[in-house]
Amino acid sequence: MSTKVKAFVLEAKDSKEKDKLATLYTLENGKFFVNFKGVRGAKAKLKAAKEVFTFGEYIIEQTKAGNIVTEANIIDNFMPLRNNLDKFYQACSIFDIVKKLAAPSPDPALFIETLKAMKAICYDNSPKYYALLKFLIDIFENMGYKLNFEKCASCGAQLTGKKFLNLDYGEIVCANCRQMTALEVAPATIGALKIIKQTPYEKLKTVKLGGGGEIKALNLLCENFEWRFGSKFFID
Ligand SMILES: [Zn+2]
Repeated sequence: MSTKVKAFVLEAKDSKEKDKLATLYTLENGKFFVNFKGVRGAKAKLKAAKEVFTFGEYIIEQTKAGNIVTEANIIDNFMPLRNNLDKFYQACSIFDIVKKLAAPSPDPALFIETLKAMKAICYDNSPKYYALLKFLIDIFENMGYKLNFEKCASCGAQLTGKKFLNLDYGEIVCANCRQMTALEVAPATIGALKIIKQTPYEKLKTVKLGGGGEIKALNLLCENFEWRFGSKFFID
């Protein structure tokens, strides 16, 4: 039986003499383990299709020996990542997050968000970390951890004074509702998060965050991620 998927090559490692064992991140099935047979040979047909970050259509034959990739049509290999370290490391962060969140089941929202973030990082020349921040804000929201800076998520009061992130629940609360584990969220951080949240990926290059707002916002979201999912993701 064969199946056709749209996928990113999430990770790949050498196997036997000329094979690559890879994890594809697919639109149709989430994480999918495959073997690129004989692909490390000099003239292998699927040589380029096995590279990490490649996005394409893959045809996979499900055999007794596992899932074998038989054909691939590369849609984008995100070439600029390979000549720009800032872009490369941001893409590594995105992929590390996807590795930690993706399951062997479909999650179209996460998949589409990954594609948007990868395009923005690769082609849009937005300042460092902006697309990564956007990706984190959006995926938290998709998973039900929406950051609302207007109203306390616990008591519903208007947030006029100091604001806190309750790490146990991943939500913004007022001073009265903060728990022991809450982090105070500085105004510069909130400003940065609000601006990034309301700006589409393709417009991120027109945004300027002052006062290192993007670093503060990123630190907060890293902390939130670690609490939600029990591990840190790669960041340079
Ligand atoms: Zn409250």
